[in-house]
Amino acid sequence: MPAVVETIAGLRSQLRIAAAEAATASSPQPLVALVPTMGALHDGHLALVQRAQESAAIVVVSIFINPLQFGSSEDLDRYPRTVDTDVECLRAAGVQFVFAPTIADMYPTGPTQTRVVAGDIGAVLEGNSRPGHFDGMLTVVSKLLNIVTPDIVVFGEKDAQQAFLVKRMVADLDIDVVVETVPTIREDDGLALSSRNRFLDGNQRTAATALPRALEAAASSAGAGTDAALSAARSVLEAEPAVELDYLAIVDPETFLAVDAEHRGPALVLVAARVGTTRLIDNHAIHLG
Ligand code: AMP
Repeated sequence: MPAVVETIAGLRSQLRIAAAEAATASSPQPLVALVPTMGALHDGHLALVQRAQESAAIVVVSIFINPLQFGSSEDLDRYPRTVDTDVECLRAAGVQFVFAPTIADMYPTGPTQTRVVAGDIGAVLEGNSRPGHFDGMLTVVSKLLNIVTPDIVVFGEKDAQQAFLVKRMVADLDIDVVVETVPTIREDDGLALSSRNRFLDGNQRTAATALPRALEAAASSAGAGTDAALSAARSVLEAEPAVELDYLAIVDPETFLAVDAEHRGPALVLVAARVGTTRLIDNHAIHLG
């Protein structure tokens, strides 16, 4: 079984012991990788775990549903909590450490007074729809990085803006960690795996494939430029009445700023939509010609 550690002090001391045990003459300081999650694990999370295991001798998976990154009207209360199954799944994957702190461990005096501010890119797209989300996310990620002090931290490309902002924080604040990203794991019909997919009923689950289909349509039309890619994606989404579009955008992956009609080269098309009461996001790399 992985060690399931609930306290910050407990994790720090267990990691010190594990590092001493794993040390060898040629590798006196074994590498540590952290995979931050909110639990309700699926094969997407396990792809991150696998990357962490390929990159480091000691792997810590954190499971923490961070209240700081949920708005008051969001789904914090109904976010799936499946810790026992998660631990079993991490055991089967051979993970050594699960860090599952309580809210009181992470925020002993209530929400932190000190916050990481995500800046301009934290206020667009997901940040526009979820005000404060990225400040809360970066704040907890910086706490986790300070607790675990990993050499490597692994994020999914599924949450592209999150990964971009974490890389930016690490660069801006000179945090001594390598940020690795892993491609999105999908169902056979293209739907990106997500902890929230379990809320979709049969019809909604079918309708949700409009997101990856729209991204594919954008990719196929990208040779004709930004406007063609956007309108191809929009047509797919508009043909599916159960999908309520939040945003559809094409950004420059270097800056995360929306590209103009003349932009050529690599770009990222992003979509967020509500299907019933479930909010889904997805993205796809494209090449604007
Ligand atoms: P979450 O538990 O949803 O906060 O996600 C934890 C990590 O898993 C984040 O880095 C996500 O980007 C990543 N992740 C979530 N879904 C997928 C997926 N379908 N494929 C790859 N990574 C994912």
